[in-house]
Amino acid sequence: MKSIKELLNSTSLNKIDARVLLGHLIEVHLCWPKSALISKDTDELPDQVIKAWHEYERRRLEGEPVAYILGFKSFYNIDLQVAPGVLIPRPETELLVEIAIAHIQQISNIENNLNSSSKILDLGTGSGAIALALAHNVPNAYVTAVDISPDALKIAQSNSQLLGLSDRLEFRHGSWLEPLQASSQFDVIVSNPPYIKSGDPHLREGDLRFEPTNALTDHEDGLSPYKIIFNQSKAHLAPRGLLLVEHGYDQSQILKQLLELEGYEDIQTHFDLAGISRALSAKLS
Ligand code: GLN
Repeated sequence: MKSIKELLNSTSLNKIDARVLLGHLIEVHLCWPKSALISKDTDELPDQVIKAWHEYERRRLEGEPVAYILGFKSFYNIDLQVAPGVLIPRPETELLVEIAIAHIQQISNIENNLNSSSKILDLGTGSGAIALALAHNVPNAYVTAVDISPDALKIAQSNSQLLGLSDRLEFRHGSWLEPLQASSQFDVIVSNPPYIKSGDPHLREGDLRFEPTNALTDHEDGLSPYKIIFNQSKAHLAPRGLLLVEHGYDQSQILKQLLELEGYEDIQTHFDLAGISRALSAKLS
């Protein structure tokens, strides 16, 4: 028999990972709140918890991401199921949700109609993180979410059901804007495409080794998804519509040029919490 304190003191896991994993186990097995990591840290734990802990510890030491071990990841103000078929949502991607919400609020203020519904398109939805965070936080938003991976769509669909958002979500299987009807128009088109260059050493490091390669890299120069999205979105942006993309730390300048070449205006750079230019937004005139 061992206590929380003994397990945490004797593990070689990173301290935060260890507390997150053990905090989850005591919640699930013992219905203890996370605060019990402190308040009950000398109580003896049942064998079943110790066994589950050693299994989690082994998996994490082998490099498996915490989110895949737990099977979920918090994003913005929702929890999402995640599994090896989808990218683990990153905190910096919450920036896209914030910008999209601000834009939708601005449109409804201009139109002086707080009840008007807005249409949103999320390209390469993965777990559904952006699409679902927007549907959850914008009560009158109707969201179309596209992905080329059937595995990802299954997870995103299941997340929309768990969050009770299925009636305002529509899923489409296919490449970028291809599965859309020619006449579909959106107030926001948002995407966090695979933007890492082929051969980038990060793809062989840390958590990224366990994530789907196709969600991380375009297997080219990291720009190919943007070229398609920028070009095809022009036919699908509603008047005042906003195109919004996340990008890599060094892609801002080149992507701005690509947007200008496609005729976009009001191109704006957005910075993440680390002060890195992380997203671009643009409109048509
Ligand atoms: N932001 C991710 C990372 O740097 C990459 C995801 C992506 O390509 N969209 O790990």
